[in-house]
Amino acid sequence: MRHFATVTAAAVLALSLAVGVGHAAPSVDLAPTSPRIGDVMFLRMWADGEVLRAACSWSGKSYPLLENSETYDVVLPVSLKARAGTTRAVVYWKYTDGRMGQLVLSVNVQSRAFGVQHLTLSKSQAGKYSAEETKREKRLIGAALDLVTAERRWSGNFLMPVEGRVSTEFGLQRYVNGRFSYRHRGVDIACPEGTPVKAAADGVVSLTDDSFILHGQTVIIDHGQGVSTLYIHLSEILVGAGREVHQGEVIGRVGSTGVATGPHLHFAVYAHHEPVDPFFWADLGGF
Ligand SMILES: [Zn+2]
Repeated sequence: MRHFATVTAAAVLALSLAVGVGHAAPSVDLAPTSPRIGDVMFLRMWADGEVLRAACSWSGKSYPLLENSETYDVVLPVSLKARAGTTRAVVYWKYTDGRMGQLVLSVNVQSRAFGVQHLTLSKSQAGKYSAEETKREKRLIGAALDLVTAERRWSGNFLMPVEGRVSTEFGLQRYVNGRFSYRHRGVDIACPEGTPVKAAADGVVSLTDDSFILHGQTVIIDHGQGVSTLYIHLSEILVGAGREVHQGEVIGRVGSTGVATGPHLHFAVYAHHEPVDPFFWADLGGF
C-alpha cells in the first residue's frame, strides 16, 4: 500500500532555509514524500505573485515548474539510479516584482529490490542492441522522451494498455548472453499477437515508426509536463504522430517486431526522460 503524505504549507515553511524578505512564501505541496526508487513525486506551488520563473532542484538537475491554470507544477522522477535515504528537493522562485526565495523539502527515498534476468539471444539479435543502424531509432525515441509540454493532459490513474501476465518487471537488471546489458525500463506484458493496445491516458502522439529494428513498431504518447508513455514491438500502428488520443483508445496491436522473443507489449512510462514504474501510475492514489 502506498502512502501519499502531503506536505502542508506550514510544514514546508518550517523546513525552509530562506524565503523572500518581508513577504509570505508561496505554498507548496509535495507527494509522496517517501517515494520508492522508480516512483515520481508531484510538486505543486500556489504562487502569491506573478511568477517570472520557478524551478525545483532535484537529484542533480533543475526542473522548471510549469504553469497549470492556478498552480505551477512539476513531476519529479525518482531515477532507477537514485539511492535510498534522506535527501532534499529545493524549490526556487522569482516574481516579476523582484521578490525571490526558496523552500527546502525533505524527501526520504525508499529502497527497493530489483530482480535479475538472464536472456539468451542469437548473435544477430543481441548485436542489434549496439548496432550502428539502431542509433537513429534511439535518437528519435530520445528526442520524443525529452519533450516537455506545459499542459497536463492526464487525470487520474493510468490504464494498463493490455491485460496479461507481467513477464518482465520494471527495473530488472538484464544480462544478455551472460553480460550486463541494461535496466529494463518498462514492463513486458505477455499477450497474444494482435491484442489491441490502448492509450494509457489522454495525450498527443509524439512519435510513430514502423522501421525500427531494435524496438520494432513504436508509438510514444506525450501526456504533458514531461510525462510520456512508450509502446513497442507492435504488429500494427493505428495512430499517426500529432493525433490527440484519449485514455482507452486503441493505438496499435501487440506483436513481436524488433528484438523480441515472442508476442508481448513492452510498456514504459517516462518522466523527463527517466523511466519510472508503470504500476505507480496505475495507482496514483488520487493526486
Ligand atoms: Zn521489455
